[in-house]
Amino acid sequence: MATNDRRGLVLVMTGHGKGKTTAVVGLALRAAGNGLSVAFFQFLKGTWNYGELEVLAGVPRIDVERMRAGYSWEPNRLEEDRALAAAAWKKARAAVLSRDHDLVILDDVNYVVHYRLLALQELLDLIRRKPSRVHLALTGRSAAPEVIEAADEVTEMADLKHHFRAGILAQPGIEF
Ligand code: ATP
Ligand code: MG
Repeated sequence: MATNDRRGLVLVMTGHGKGKTTAVVGLALRAAGNGLSVAFFQFLKGTWNYGELEVLAGVPRIDVERMRAGYSWEPNRLEEDRALAAAAWKKARAAVLSRDHDLVILDDVNYVVHYRLLALQELLDLIRRKPSRVHLALTGRSAAPEVIEAADEVTEMADLKHHFRAGILAQPGIEF
């Protein structure tokens, strides 16, 4: 499956425009379709039921873990949020270091760092210690400049127009 000459890349999808999670869902499918094994960790705690992750979990060679460890948007929950983020991080970090997967996706990890639920240094250390053949994809708004610097490829989704501002709410199949 894995070839000796493969160079593991650090990919970042960031920016305020839509398309970061859907980009890495596509990446997971492409990788699995080419024989790579994939771990997809979703960090952000959301109220949406992300239908794509259920489908992904049924795809051969893709493991999906939803960790519900992001910012809860509720007051007085910071310590609990930090503890959830720490537990989620421990799992994700172990998955990268284990070499069990060719591609590890940490969806919304940038956001978790931005809200200081996870120390930036933790993420930078993992990027540095990543096994050389493992690909690592990091998504989420507001990627830290240090993460951008450390990455091999950075894509910024720009919000040129979003239907939400025209009063159109999230649509099943488009937003979740
Ligand atoms: P998607 O999951 O559609 O690929 P995303 O991962 O880039 O989007 P997030 O930053 O994770 O977006 O935001 C989560 C939710 O907010 C998603 O439902 C997404 O569709 C929606 N969203 C993304 N960008 C915008 C925007 N500029 N204005 C309003 N809603 C947005
Ligand atoms: Mg997203």
